Amino acid sequence: MKRGRPFQGGLSQRALEKGDLSLNEQTTVTCSGAVNLSVERVAVATLPTEWGEFKIAGYRSLISEEEFVVLFKGELRREIPTLVRIHSQCLTGDVFASTKCDCGAQLHQTMRMIQQEGRGAIVYQQQEGRGIGILNKIRAYALQDEGADTVQANEQLGLAVDLREYRQCAEILFDLGLCHVRVISNNPLKLRALEEAGLKIIERVSIQVESTERAANYLRTKKEKLGHLLHIDG
Ligand SMILES: [Zn+2]
Repeated sequence: MKRGRPFQGGLSQRALEKGDLSLNEQTTVTCSGAVNLSVERVAVATLPTEWGEFKIAGYRSLISEEEFVVLFKGELRREIPTLVRIHSQCLTGDVFASTKCDCGAQLHQTMRMIQQEGRGAIVYQQQEGRGIGILNKIRAYALQDEGADTVQANEQLGLAVDLREYRQCAEILFDLGLCHVRVISNNPLKLRALEEAGLKIIERVSIQVESTERAANYLRTKKEKLGHLLHIDG
């Protein structure tokens, strides 16, 4: 059973907001997490996209049924601080261009950023709806139609607000040859988990996409209840 963990750690909120994670001198991070991987690379292919040509790799977990997809490009080396993102699957946002959230826009913006940089990786983690699955997510959306916010809806369904785990995502980045990373994320829980897994986080690269009014409410909840580091207009 996967469980989400609250964000508690040595990194101060201020350090996170500044995007400066190297301030935390007690942290003895090494890339030793690269040994004994619990994921296995299955195949790698070329993927031309609207925003440029990427490589796509498929990974499977050796300890669960979970599968992962990674988009990456450029020469990936441990000593080069590299743009990375852990993107959690959002069928409604990524595929159907839902305006209830900003996931699809964030994914595409990240692809553009990596294309521009010429180097980087996106781990696409198939944990829909922060790990609750697509059917529960639609049940939660039904409650949101009645006025609940994203956190209240999960609570009403008796589901944890965030069930995601990120260790294997970090392992995939190790396997691709990375260690020093610049993480594109507004989620302190993800940053903490990647650091605990042994990645050296050189920088947090914040991501802001233009949001619709509907998505703004969702983002406000993420900021206020889930601790996301967001600036929201209005
Ligand atoms: Zn979404």
